[in-house]
Amino acid sequence: MRAAVVDVLGGGFALQDVDLAEPVGREVLVEVRASGLCHTDLTVATHAFADFPPPVVLGHEVAGVVTAVGPDARAFTPGDHVVGCLVQWCGECPACLDGRVYQCGRPGTTLRDPGRDGPRLSRDGRPLTQGMGLGGFAERALVHENQLTSVPRRLPFPQAALLGCGVLTGAGSVLNGARVLPGETVAVIGAGGVGLNAVGAARIAGASRVVAVDVRDGTLRRARAFGATDVVNSATTDAVAAVRELTGGGVRHAFDIVGVAATTEQALRMTAPGGGVYVVGLAAGGGDLRLSLPRLLLEQKRIQGLIMGAGNPRRDIPRYADLYLRGHLNLDDLVSRRIALDGIDAGYAALQDPEVARVVVTSF
Ligand SMILES: [Zn+2]
Ligand SMILES: [Zn+2]
Repeated sequence: MRAAVVDVLGGGFALQDVDLAEPVGREVLVEVRASGLCHTDLTVATHAFADFPPPVVLGHEVAGVVTAVGPDARAFTPGDHVVGCLVQWCGECPACLDGRVYQCGRPGTTLRDPGRDGPRLSRDGRPLTQGMGLGGFAERALVHENQLTSVPRRLPFPQAALLGCGVLTGAGSVLNGARVLPGETVAVIGAGGVGLNAVGAARIAGASRVVAVDVRDGTLRRARAFGATDVVNSATTDAVAAVRELTGGGVRHAFDIVGVAATTEQALRMTAPGGGVYVVGLAAGGGDLRLSLPRLLLEQKRIQGLIMGAGNPRRDIPRYADLYLRGHLNLDDLVSRRIALDGIDAGYAALQDPEVARVVVTSF
């Protein structure tokens, strides 16, 4: 089958013929119909990560159709429409039993034991790394059933693909992580694909003010369409002062989607006493935060890291699919561009354009 392979870090995505194994155990074979371009895959394709050495097939925003299931798979049958998610969970450890599958203590149970079963992906007899247990930049993907969720058949595949990462992360941070309540105030720093979902979810939660902060006017215009009540261009304005002014002293919840020390510090300063700061994204490098303990104590703030929107995919993905199908969650305007599997490098370049929210591979 065809797959976009990263052979060398920084060398881009090249269309190649690779081999995919047959499903064993609880694996499910998925014919990929849509695969979103998430920034995290570009980071993995350009920086060394011990878990994903090249050659690697990335792609973790996947939607498709089940074509075969392993002998022990129970959750799916051929023909099911499914969405993949990089959250790897065992279903049996204390965190999983508590519903916190995103904190699973045994995530490796969703991967193969290559010594026993061989690799899922190979090329000329040599194993290829499968990115995040998914490997969605390919015609087909072989995935443990716990990394898949069923979705309604009338959900379009490109929109469905986004549910697995960008939507789960952005919307989940607001609804699961911060648990924003009606009337509360929210700031979202970084209004790209994930940030727009945080903005949209804050609107769904009934936030009274949703302030989007970004350095690009085009991005901020789109944030308004997703439900931002106010926008602040932090390249030309003191964002902390602007947010404090707009909200009469600071917001209740500030989400840092960018994930550098400077934006997290901005989030802390634009939060009102008693408020919460949530680190949702992480830029390459990230950095260390300088925290004033007296201010933290006296202002009674909390700061929390949130991975994948504290998301439980089997609970949350159907919920977001339903919100989309009922017209509450805007996924259509996130799908800015549809590309073919050989266009991933150009697709990532297009994401630099503020008019482009998400690029999705739809032709394989
Ligand atoms: Zn992602
Ligand atoms: Zn677990």
